[in-house]
Amino acid sequence: MQLENKTAIVTGGNSGIGEAIVRRLASEGANVVIDYVAKPDDAADLVKDITTAGGKAMGVEADVSRPTEIQKLIDSAVHEYGRLDVMVNNAGIEKRHSLLDADEESFDLVVAVDLKSAFFGTQLAAKQFVSQGGGGVVVNVSSVHEDWPMPGNISYCVAKGGMRMLTRTAGVELGPQGIRVINIAPGAVATPINTKTLNDPEQKQKLEDAIPLGKVAEPSEIGDAVLFAASDAARYITATTIFVDGGIMQSSVGL
Ligand code: NAD
Repeated sequence: MQLENKTAIVTGGNSGIGEAIVRRLASEGANVVIDYVAKPDDAADLVKDITTAGGKAMGVEADVSRPTEIQKLIDSAVHEYGRLDVMVNNAGIEKRHSLLDADEESFDLVVAVDLKSAFFGTQLAAKQFVSQGGGGVVVNVSSVHEDWPMPGNISYCVAKGGMRMLTRTAGVELGPQGIRVINIAPGAVATPINTKTLNDPEQKQKLEDAIPLGKVAEPSEIGDAVLFAASDAARYITATTIFVDGGIMQSSVGL
């Protein structure tokens, strides 16, 4: 058990990649706080699955675009399990627009849910790690678009690019206190955020042809990478990004 007696928070933990992360961390013995803003029944079902299998998990409703709600997640974790060891800032949304089409409201929303949440999730978790002692790990789920422009999805790229420098700067600032900060950057993953592309056979084929490993990732493949980043196996890794993308970032086959 790689995370025995550790406590983790996973934001947006009742869907897609977040759900896979929750299941993987719980399977390695972590107590998991599952953050959700929608579909409370999915969070309750997940808690039931984990507890039935002998693990520990609880659902907490929190909108992570608001720092006070992130603090609520941390307080719930500490109240229920005594401490916090791993913060996974996974929640995210997209609003597909180009620079010329973007409006202030949708830009603000994407940046608040994708970047501001990770910023304050990192800050507030780090404050908890410092006050309790013993270090800790923050894993930010960014995207290949932290480094790879996607025309027509500019606010998302701006937010993920911000996560890139958040992780690098916070990792450097917090290293001396035994706190690691790592980005996990998925490529294309079969989750609700991608339903439109994956339901269109032509677009799906084009996407898979561009991925050297030849397929879209399963959420569990991202969950495995987050487990690695959060575990002691990654104890010398911080302030950087691990791409989990089937090689697409390095591929010369255009999309
Ligand atoms: P998803 O839509 O299944 O999950 C997103 C989760 O975030 C949902 O649970 C949603 O309720 C939650 N969420 C949205 N707004 C929130 C808020 N204000 N407060 C709390 N939770 C909120 O999509 P996913 O693919 O599982 O995405 C998870 C993360 O992975 C996102 O950050 C996304 O950008 C990133 N990502 C996904 C892919 C992909 O191909 N699916 C690729 C790269 C990166």
